Amino acid sequence: MQKFKVLISEKDIKKRVKALASRINRDFKGEHLYIIGILNGCYMFLSDLTKELKMPCTVDFMRVSSYGNATETSGIVRIIMDVSESLSGKNVLIVEDIIDTGLTMDYLIRTIKQKKPKSVKICTLLHKKVKTRINVDIDYCGFEVPDKFVVGYGLDYNNMYRNLRYIGYK
Ligand code: 5GP
Repeated sequence: MQKFKVLISEKDIKKRVKALASRINRDFKGEHLYIIGILNGCYMFLSDLTKELKMPCTVDFMRVSSYGNATETSGIVRIIMDVSESLSGKNVLIVEDIIDTGLTMDYLIRTIKQKKPKSVKICTLLHKKVKTRINVDIDYCGFEVPDKFVVGYGLDYNNMYRNLRYIGYK
């Protein structure tokens, strides 16, 4: 396996995921939560996060593709796989691995809001603030990261390195 520099260690990820989960537990106490993970990058984060949640919840997924090269998004987003239930009247929590330019999340929020949920909140493990092109209101953010292409803990490069336990960069 290729060696990467560690940007965020396994220990720090674990600690932060628990902290995010307790905020979500507090904010949605006694409510049902409809969680939408954005594949593929969310899978490890979503798995660890949902294990800490105490409210009744449904876990669903969406898969989107954005045209562009390997490391830059084009902003043209296409839904490859949509949610499996109606979102009408539900408390939706979108779980994403990373928000970079914000174009993907902006598109997702607009699409999800058309389905008339009761509320929509965003939870992202990473936020590359310096690359913002569209501001989205992030409700739960794990870490701000610098302008580096990061891999690990679900995030890939050419569909590899998702299984690293840490967030790394070259
Ligand atoms: P955005 O539309 O916010 O620019 O990009 C969001 C998507 O681009 C993420 O869901 C992710 O798939 C990809 N992406 C953006 N930055 C990185 C990065 O540093 N590493 C990896 N692996 N994917 C990234």
